Amino acid sequence: MTKETILITGAGGQIGSVLSTTLRQAYGANAVLATDIRSAELGEGPFELLDVLNGNRLHELVKRYRVTQIYHLAAILSARGEQNPKIAWDINMNSLFNVLDVAKEHQLKVFFPSSIAAFGPNTPKQNTPQDTITQPSTVYGISKAAGENWCQYYHLKYGLDVRSVRFPGIIGYQSLPGGGTTDYAVDIYHKAALGDSFTCFLEPDTRLPMLYMDDAIQGVLQLMNAPAETLTVRTSYNLAGISFTPAEIAGEIQQHVPGFSINYQPDFRQVIADSWPQSIDDQIARRDWEWKPKFDLSLMTQDMLSHLQEMYLAEMLKH
Ligand code: NAD
Repeated sequence: MTKETILITGAGGQIGSVLSTTLRQAYGANAVLATDIRSAELGEGPFELLDVLNGNRLHELVKRYRVTQIYHLAAILSARGEQNPKIAWDINMNSLFNVLDVAKEHQLKVFFPSSIAAFGPNTPKQNTPQDTITQPSTVYGISKAAGENWCQYYHLKYGLDVRSVRFPGIIGYQSLPGGGTTDYAVDIYHKAALGDSFTCFLEPDTRLPMLYMDDAIQGVLQLMNAPAETLTVRTSYNLAGISFTPAEIAGEIQQHVPGFSINYQPDFRQVIADSWPQSIDDQIARRDWEWKPKFDLSLMTQDMLSHLQEMYLAEMLKH
């Protein structure tokens, strides 16, 4: 077996910080090089500052650390992307080209997270199929839809082993979200754990697909370790976990925090949410690499609240 050395871009972010820890547990702390444009506390193991728009620096790090795999997480997410569309496009696309090009040159395996944002208002909203209309209406979605196709292009044209999933909204206690439209579903648990009320930027009945962080990370590892010949999708695999509305998650939280209250002040993110699917058909991922999430809304709520309540209690005791 070849010894793997993994480089993660955007390792300081919501998903990257958890993925770095898990990959370090699996491959050894020194086998995982965490990088980000800003410094980050990610525990034991190497860290380098890297702006992925700097292709020369990426090349230099790949050579110096003898990298064999890149997990390319750096991106500008949906809500932040709408504030400055051209910058989001530049970062999301050109960082991907830099990763694909260095991977092509050194024959590296690549993971690229796409998103349900690659779909759009004309996509069937219920049980969205793997192959369907992708006419996204956000710059983030346009960059993910294009990115998926570029991944497939590098696979077909250059034989690059690039693998991808379309993540729904990711919910975890370990880290804070970075400017997406599903961020509310993380923030709501923090407010509940602190005993505060929550103001939601989406309407009560806005149903969106979500996935618990633990399932998301396991899914990435499963996909990256699957035999190449079992993979039939080289754009990006649909991935589903749990679909719920703000009113439903609030109701679930109230089972554990009886006085918890929510009010609604929809903003520009409502329009983004309305353009996305409500539930996703992920049977191809289930078939090809045995994808199977474990957490439903009830299990996720118990796990989120117990970890966050413990965390806030420990912080209080420190002061
Ligand atoms: P995040 O915003 O929390 O983290 C992104 C990280 O990228 C940040 O630490 C940021 O500093 C870094 N970054 C930004 N520009 C950079 C640059 N030029 N060079 C290097 N680093 C840079 O995002 P996340 O939630 O962890 O998402 C990770 C990936 O997963 C992204 O590609 C995102 O599109 C995708 N995704 C996330 C979700 C979700 O719900 N979090 C859903 C679907 C897809």
